[in-house]
Amino acid sequence: MIPKETVDEILGTARVDEVVGDFVNLKKRGANLLGLCPFHNEKTPSFTVSPSKGIYKCFGCGEAGSAVNFIMQHEQYTYPEALKYLANKYNIEIEEEEQTAEQIQAANEKESLFLVTQFAAEYFHKQLLESEDGRAIGLSYFKERGFRESTIEKFNLGYNPDSWEAFTKAALDKGYKLEYLEKTGMTIVKDDGKKRFDRFKGRVIFPIHNISGRAIAFGGRTLSADKKIAKYLNSPESDIYYKSRVLYGLHLAKRKIVEQDNCFLVEGYTDVISLHQNGVENVVASSGTSLTEDQIRLIKRYTQNITILFDGDTAGIKAAFRGIDMILEEGMNVKVLSFPEGEDPDSFAMNRSEDELTSFLNEEAQDFIRYKTSLLLAEVGNDPIKRANLIKSIVGSIALIPDTIARSVYVQECSDLMEIGEQALMSELNKVRRKRLNQKNKELQRQQQAEDTAPPPSEADMPLDPYNVQEDSKPTSTTPLAFQERDVIRTLVKFGNEKFQLAGEQEDEAIELTVAEYLIFEMEQDQLSIDDGDLRKVYEIFQKAVDEERAVDENELVSNSDQTISSIAIECLMDKYSLSMNWEEKHNIITIKEEEILQHKVHKGICSWRLNKVQQMIQEKQESLKDRKEEYEDIIAEILRLEEAKKALAKELGRIILR
Ligand code: ATP
Ligand code: MN
Repeated sequence: MIPKETVDEILGTARVDEVVGDFVNLKKRGANLLGLCPFHNEKTPSFTVSPSKGIYKCFGCGEAGSAVNFIMQHEQYTYPEALKYLANKYNIEIEEEEQTAEQIQAANEKESLFLVTQFAAEYFHKQLLESEDGRAIGLSYFKERGFRESTIEKFNLGYNPDSWEAFTKAALDKGYKLEYLEKTGMTIVKDDGKKRFDRFKGRVIFPIHNISGRAIAFGGRTLSADKKIAKYLNSPESDIYYKSRVLYGLHLAKRKIVEQDNCFLVEGYTDVISLHQNGVENVVASSGTSLTEDQIRLIKRYTQNITILFDGDTAGIKAAFRGIDMILEEGMNVKVLSFPEGEDPDSFAMNRSEDELTSFLNEEAQDFIRYKTSLLLAEVGNDPIKRANLIKSIVGSIALIPDTIARSVYVQECSDLMEIGEQALMSELNKVRRKRLNQKNKELQRQQQAEDTAPPPSEADMPLDPYNVQEDSKPTSTTPLAFQERDVIRTLVKFGNEKFQLAGEQEDEAIELTVAEYLIFEMEQDQLSIDDGDLRKVYEIFQKAVDEERAVDENELVSNSDQTISSIAIECLMDKYSLSMNWEEKHNIITIKEEEILQHKVHKGICSWRLNKVQQMIQEKQESLKDRKEEYEDIIAEILRLEEAKKALAKELGRIILR
């Protein structure tokens, strides 16, 4: 944990123009700086940096944020990593905060697992390069496979000597505890600790790393040709290794994935390594397991495009169809590529020049839906039942794609390929979508009911997420009330700290408040709340600040460690900034005007919002009349009271109520 004061100091010191300037050539343009966007390809600059606001925005691709966001995005760092980068740049010392005994215990446990794993990785690597057996057996095997020394270094490959407890003994001698050797699975313990042996005895070692490049587990390949021995053994799961959330090679691939805006997905270690050695670095492997949702989202952080590389046979691709549907459902674009009969990515890369490999990858990759259609079509022939099943299967995949336009493009194409009317496909597609929607709704209802009756979850029930895989944000609703909630938050973010005059009975009784104070007092008085969970987070920051009688610093929002807060804030601010920017150039008026109308706007905004809320409450009351007949009188009285309030509010808004 970096202490809050240090975080504030870092955020207060880092200047967006200086931070971005280290990576982008910026030219002055009015109050702003302009350069070529590092996040997408462009020939004319549309990447704008506003030093006064402390933010950047690309008007080409929409990337936007603060200095911290830039470093996170550009270097693919986590929030704390980006803060450390900035602290280093500005010579700010970070003293990590003191932790509680439990935190230390928990952190120590995990840190111990990391440390013992790191020791193991170094030990295996050293054995490979320096011990006699390591060189004669392990190193010569890798060399025979065609791995160069630089490649062996890059992937930190290793060797576990072929004796029962060579590694375990070395680790214990160094003072590492047996407990951690067992928890990471590198040592297998039997008979209450009396017998222990190396899991990877006599195997060559492929270390597995997390995104930031720390070793967290191993894969070990046997060198024996005995068919009874498993070719590959992997570390079991531990507190630092969750199989389903790890992709082999991601730490080496992430920047290239962003650069190329595509990620190649292969089966295993040797495929990743051979592709790297032949110049293709945007590649990861799911290592033995079928692709999981978490792994897909991990890739989605860096690109929308996945190309899956398959060995020659179509059976493997067919088996993967279901997994690929999951990727489509995430709204990502999937291509597939199958290698010639008898070859896998590893062997193919080893036997070709870099040019041959890259042009093969570029030219042979086929859009998944097109591929699936033609593959199945070839098998169907004239059998009408098979044909009907084919249509169902293809339409099932297309129906998963969230984007409407993409769906209709696929329908068009498949209609051509399968020689079926577009209309027929469309109606089949809509049937599937309707059915799925119904299922989803039912599921939601069931969940809702379960939640309504179940006690609230205790903190212990909340799963810890060590790799911070981000959940998908919920789609924002667009009902009028939701729209106004957004407007309230926008007003808070843009104008929260500005002065606001509240007229009293007498002219000299006017009270001066900040906009934030006014808004929050009004809302609390009416017991109004923000329904949208994301927007509420921003609201609560202001609520807390008002309680503490202080202003909210823009940095507190824009550079917030919570990505949802920071993007809401940036969205609100950029809107003000781009508006005033255009208008200032053209007419030099909007900034003044916007502040002039502010007073009016805030008041009007909250009135109309209250009106909507009241209307909603009336509706709810009316509905409750149906099942609560015995309380009829009370409810009617409340409805009348609300109707009064509604009239008053409407009058204030100068609206005419028609019904
Ligand atoms: P061979 O030399 O016989 O071709 P290999 O080491 O290349 O053996 P393959 O059987 O060809 O291994 O496997 C293909 C890919 O899948 C390789 O990259 C390998 O690392 C990976 N792989 C195979 N089995 C496992 C496993 N159990 N866990 C993780 N990765 C595996
Ligand atoms: Mn192989």
